[in-house]
Amino acid sequence: MNKTSTKNIAIIGAGASGLMAAITAAKSGSNVHLYEQNNKPAKKILASGNGRCNISNTKISSSDYAGLKTNFTSFCLQNYSFSQLEKFCKEIGLFLNILDDGRAYPLSNEAKSVALAFENAAKDLGVQIYNEHHISSITNKDSKFYLHTSLNTSQAYDKLLICTGSQAAPQLGGCESGYDLAISLGHSINPSYPSLVQLHINSKLPEKMSGAKQEAEVTLYINSKKEQTIKGDILFTKYGISGFAILDISQMASEALMNFQMVDIGLDLLPKVDRQALSSQLLSTCKNLPNYSIESILGGLLPSKISRQILESTKINNSTLAKDIHTKMAKQIVSKIKDWRFEISDTHGFKHAEVSGGGINTDEVNDKTMQSTVCEGLYFAGEVLDIVGRRGGFNFAFAFASGYLAGKGVSK
Ligand SMILES: Cc1cc2nc3c(=O)[nH]c(=O)nc-3n(C[C@H](O)[C@H](O)[C@H](O)COP(=O)(O)OP(=O)(O)OC[C@H]3O[C@@H](n4cnc5c(N)ncnc54)[C@H](O)[C@@H]3O)c2cc1C
Repeated sequence: MNKTSTKNIAIIGAGASGLMAAITAAKSGSNVHLYEQNNKPAKKILASGNGRCNISNTKISSSDYAGLKTNFTSFCLQNYSFSQLEKFCKEIGLFLNILDDGRAYPLSNEAKSVALAFENAAKDLGVQIYNEHHISSITNKDSKFYLHTSLNTSQAYDKLLICTGSQAAPQLGGCESGYDLAISLGHSINPSYPSLVQLHINSKLPEKMSGAKQEAEVTLYINSKKEQTIKGDILFTKYGISGFAILDISQMASEALMNFQMVDIGLDLLPKVDRQALSSQLLSTCKNLPNYSIESILGGLLPSKISRQILESTKINNSTLAKDIHTKMAKQIVSKIKDWRFEISDTHGFKHAEVSGGGINTDEVNDKTMQSTVCEGLYFAGEVLDIVGRRGGFNFAFAFASGYLAGKGVSK
């Protein structure tokens, strides 16, 4: 490689997208400096998937993402498919285990093997990683980018790639600084909101049921209109509600809350039994066990903390004997079990969110190269963009695919 044609490239953020971009650009012959504010790269990879890292998914499409322009992901995801990621992982010594539903994890079942494989691959290719270097501002002058660090150092680069992620999980490096840097270079930001996050409920009831877990069907209502129904685990907590089904509806709920819309959820706590069958079952159990309390009868259907609150909210005394439960009372109980409505007041915040929605306006970024359309030589990849994925490996999938595309783009 002719040394005079080597491009000097700066990448801000050594997360999933920044590491993938650094490896790709270095492979194409660029001289890459990777800046990370944390004391080591890939802190979110290390914490991901409960320490196992759900690295990607075999079944990906644009419909797995939200953002003002979700078709922005189409080219990028097709250009870097799951099989390409799997092949690349093998090349860097990382083997994947694919579950029946398409989710992929490292064969080691340890997130640290992913972080280490990416960091080692980058270092082997000569990428200079500067840990504990927060980029506080950028000057763009005479076709060069000057990066200013918190340590008062400054360096000039031919191209710049912003891979600073989102505000989610500040304890792992999540922050707004990528948005501020992009704004200083002429970009606009779509407002950000927490996603894949627990929800707060406007009532004291969840606290009384705190710790109770149930397989349920959750329906999301925005301004009283049914928007989404998802089956999965729910968990009542002191502040509201958590569990996989809640994380899955949280993107739409959180975006609606940000826009001051009314958000409610309806819980079907026994989705496998229909209303009519449940009513008949409840009445016949009451008939067969006439001297049991209604609380103990419901205890055979639901966790006791939940059944107690169902009785309280239907104003049926929990010591009422089964023989005194008449059809109207049974219907009231069944109505709560099958469609218990709760008003959502807030999310549990960026600190507890896995990702954020919103970010760099994708109308200002070329989806074929990840280059800015308002500032030549500037590129973006990963969660800093206004793209947010579902749970299931989709967020890393986009971080890697966009990192790959941007790494190619900066080297051209
Ligand atoms: C607890 C948790 C679990 C998750 N589990 C999964 C999962 O299993 N599967 C999945 O697909 N996704 C998961 N995610 C989401 C996933 O981690 C992110 O979508 C992904 O890390 C985004 O990659 P990124 O490179 O865009 O940003 P990040 O990985 O956030 O990397 C950005 C980096 O930039 C650095 N940075 C920011 N600003 C500056 C600056 N000014 N100067 C220098 N450095 C800076 C940050 O410190 C950070 O290291 C999880 C997230 C969390 C928080």
